[in-house]
Amino acid sequence: MDPAEKLVSRYRELACSAPEGIWFAPGRVNLIGEHTDYNDGFVLPFALERRAVVAAGHRHDDLIVMHAADLSETVELPLSDLSPGREGWAAYLAGVLWVLREEGYPIAPATLVLTSNVPLGAGLSSSAAIECAVMAAACDLFGLDIAPMERARLAQRAENVYVGAPTGILDQAASILCHAGHGLFLDCRTFETTDVPLPLRGQGFEILVLDTRTPHSHVEGEYGERRATCERAAAILGVRALRDVTDLDTALARLPDELMRRRVRHVVSENDRTCAALKLARKGRLADLPPLLNESHASMRDDYEITVPTVDLAVETALAHGALGARMTGGGFGGCIIAWCFSGQAEHIGSAIREAFEKVGFQEPSWFTAVPADGAGRLS
Ligand code: ADP
Ligand code: MG
Repeated sequence: MDPAEKLVSRYRELACSAPEGIWFAPGRVNLIGEHTDYNDGFVLPFALERRAVVAAGHRHDDLIVMHAADLSETVELPLSDLSPGREGWAAYLAGVLWVLREEGYPIAPATLVLTSNVPLGAGLSSSAAIECAVMAAACDLFGLDIAPMERARLAQRAENVYVGAPTGILDQAASILCHAGHGLFLDCRTFETTDVPLPLRGQGFEILVLDTRTPHSHVEGEYGERRATCERAAAILGVRALRDVTDLDTALARLPDELMRRRVRHVVSENDRTCAALKLARKGRLADLPPLLNESHASMRDDYEITVPTVDLAVETALAHGALGARMTGGGFGGCIIAWCFSGQAEHIGSAIREAFEKVGFQEPSWFTAVPADGAGRLS
């Protein structure tokens, strides 16, 4: 059955009526700009065609009824009992309604039925996709006039406070603000955004997204450690955040140890690469972007030390089989890589990585070709 049809039939079973609408929000990949967001820096994600879809409508009782169609699970709670403390998938949905109510918006009893084809826990932000789809549904259903970036910030707060995941604004901003055929350059200090034209097909390119299926062990500790090192370095350098470092060599000379120097070099050079990518894309020079991806990967591998053997092998194999540029995308320690290739090459490169993984006993990867897609909206 078509996913939207399945969603509507589940909705009818639960609510005994048709939904009032269907809304969606996509997952994303980060083209470049990794671990720069919490340094007040720059990121450049684009939205995927993979998306979460939510059918929603008002209820006549006092309940919030949430159903995850992919898990065949239903969670019901009285609207008055929306406070944090919930675990599992329902926290992402309830969290968005909770944060809206905290902000004083009029939230009413509703049925929300969810499905998504964004792979879970692969670093493509399935969590932001479901939050932002619920945000789109809630804003229309309850008549809330909330600007796109504010929606992203509220959805981020739901994930930070209600779910308890200390993530930056990248995922929700991408899921809400991206436009088809474009990347989204985001200044994580000012929240200013710029649409970046990415006419991949028009210039003969495609982007492979490959999930290395590597479990993220110790991620939170490592993430916290990187963050703390950046904050210490900024304090030593007397700047508000590493984004404010203008002269890298002078800054490096003032830092006390080699490890900190390498962490800072990654953040500062990654910000520079992300700004360079913006400039090149604005001039239509897409062919000049792939080398920046390679430099970004080397910097994450050697200076920031957030890659793992599966990810490095996937990147090396992609490059050996014709990719023009490749890098890990997302927070690191596993997850996905992206490989920038000529049109028609992604499948061949994905297969080459599968073979390379098989040879060394890594789990079989999965992959698809990414097309920059639209951010959240209404389907019907
Ligand atoms: P990522 O955002 O990288 O995919 P997260 O750990 O942040 O990984 O979010 C994954 C979580 O989001 C899942 O554990 C689940 O709770 C929730 N989730 C994502 N997609 C769905 C879905 N289709 N149905 C139910 N819950 C989902
Ligand atoms: Mg997530």
